[in-house]
Amino acid sequence: MSPRAIPLVDLAAEYALVREEVRASFEGILDSMRLILGPHVQAFESEFGRYLGARHAIGVGSGTDALLLSLKAVGVGAGDEVVTTPFTFFATSEAILHLGAVPVYADVDPETGLLDPAEVRRRLTPRTKAILPVHLFGQSADLDPLLAICREKGLRLVEDAAQAHGATYRGRRVGTIGDAGTFSFYPSKNLSAYGEAGLVSTNDDAVAASLRSLRNHGQGARYEHDLVGFNARLDELQAAVLRAKLRLLEPGNRRRREIAARYRRLFKAPVRPLSERDWGEPVYHLFVVRVPDRDAVCARLSEEKIGFGVHYAVPSHLQPATKALGRETASLPKVEALAREALSLPCHPFMTDEDVDRVARVVQG
Ligand SMILES: *Cc1c(COP(=O)(O)O)cnc(C)c1O
Repeated sequence: MSPRAIPLVDLAAEYALVREEVRASFEGILDSMRLILGPHVQAFESEFGRYLGARHAIGVGSGTDALLLSLKAVGVGAGDEVVTTPFTFFATSEAILHLGAVPVYADVDPETGLLDPAEVRRRLTPRTKAILPVHLFGQSADLDPLLAICREKGLRLVEDAAQAHGATYRGRRVGTIGDAGTFSFYPSKNLSAYGEAGLVSTNDDAVAASLRSLRNHGQGARYEHDLVGFNARLDELQAAVLRAKLRLLEPGNRRRREIAARYRRLFKAPVRPLSERDWGEPVYHLFVVRVPDRDAVCARLSEEKIGFGVHYAVPSHLQPATKALGRETASLPKVEALAREALSLPCHPFMTDEDVDRVARVVQG
């Protein structure tokens, strides 16, 4: 008998829990044909905003839109530098580059993969406008030292929280601590839509007003364009999906933490899980280990029908698309070592303890 497949994410199992509610909402939306900026978007913004403890939550088209609009709303423009991490999904850099700004890459803490505030400080120049940390794999970046730099130098802080819905930093949910927090609801994320969706949280009234305008072609009144904006709205069908799934987020995150704790008890050298820091509660979007012989481990996982991922084999500063920036900052040894060894393992709420044990056994070899 072939072994039971363990996927990296299990959207089918999750769908079974929300099927009736989602279908009923879809029927209501299709009967009313209120498709854009209607009651579900408004309700989801208020529900997710309340969950985060944010003053404003603005639904947008994707996590990438959330980054692009947030950076623009806090004033990042052509020629500005944004200090960020290259150990992330490429969208973090794309948002900076599409504004004509320059991503300045800083190295990470090799034990967590998170942006290292001391390295950020070394990359500041008179052109630095903002800092863009990523709450990678569900764990908050160390925000206090970054906020201190921002206060000292008059910089803005945008948090990329695409992988960290519900994670906390010193008792507050990530996305509510800097000038803006950006969320993705791409299907693989801890809270996800059945298509593309994203959101920005902020406690700043001016940033919120700017975001509401930017996502909707810069319109205040209809056909009156105060700004050159974007078509970057969250749609009603996706908002209805997100409302139905929001109640699964907390129990799902709790189960992810249990699974992570179990993995930690099972792994021994040379498998090294990334570390958990005590400044907050992570939500384990992925469980990531460092392994010296990654190709061999991946081959064993494939053989056993166990899903895995490599996040991220080529960091943003070494991508073909950023070649034009020059490679002066290309020496980021801690990121480059992580990129060679990091391996993402299944850590979703529908795994059994036996699944976790089996994954650990196969990885350990
Ligand atoms: C998924 C992700 C994004 C992009 O979100 P989309 O909704 O796919 O546009 C940005 N940053 C990080 C860290 C991500 O994981």
